[in-house]
Amino acid sequence: MNRKKIVAGNWKMNSTLDDAIDLVASMKLKSKNFQEIEKIIFPPFPFLKTVADNLITETNFFVGAQNCSEHLKGAYTGEVSVEMLSSVGCQYILVGHSERRHFFNENDGQLILKIQHALNNNLKVIFCFGEQLEERKNATHFETVKQQLENVLKVFSEQQLDKIYLAYEPVWAIGTGETATPEQAQEMHAYVRRIITHLFSNEAAGKIPILYGGSCNAQNAAELFACADVDGGLIGGASLKADDFCKIISSF
Ligand code: PEP
Repeated sequence: MNRKKIVAGNWKMNSTLDDAIDLVASMKLKSKNFQEIEKIIFPPFPFLKTVADNLITETNFFVGAQNCSEHLKGAYTGEVSVEMLSSVGCQYILVGHSERRHFFNENDGQLILKIQHALNNNLKVIFCFGEQLEERKNATHFETVKQQLENVLKVFSEQQLDKIYLAYEPVWAIGTGETATPEQAQEMHAYVRRIITHLFSNEAAGKIPILYGGSCNAQNAAELFACADVDGGLIGGASLKADDFCKIISSF
């Protein structure tokens, strides 16, 4: 099956407005020859509108938010709703990132609400999941991933799944410089497609994009993207440098 090729960049809590403007300008220039690749960047909240405005005329280049509130509106000081995000030009929301799960104790119920709100507001979702080092070591990583996917995706319809991309991010590889081998990534991505077949259908499993994330960089992207079930990457650290990010975009 011919699936989209996607590279997404999660800037996390990095950069300033000026740096963000420079970074986007540079990415636009350097990615000009790769219009067929879907590119999505996830800047911090305060820069979303500026970045979205800067990308509005670009082909296949979108902006997303790293998080959204599980609430729709009202007295939730410090929270940001999906409606607000949509109104500043966001088209994607990252849900289930391991840093949100672990540092902010986000649970499956909250993740479901965030995805529901996003989809109801016509935003697409990148849903992240992945095992911790201990789980890989004691060989429970498949079971962990199965639970993470089933617990959340079971409440959505196959039609809703069309607006959801998946990102397999083994926690032991995020920000550590240690990457899953292409064999480990392929093995898990193929397993994820079997879970999607079981939950939805063969057709859904064949078309859902599954990104790999975890110390993916300009050096190792090509061998990861060459795997049959890897449709691109969710990039953290390397998405803060236009050269590296664009080298990754050129790695298919
Ligand atoms: C991430 O946080 O989603 C990520 C993949 O980070 P890094 O590329 O820095 O490991």
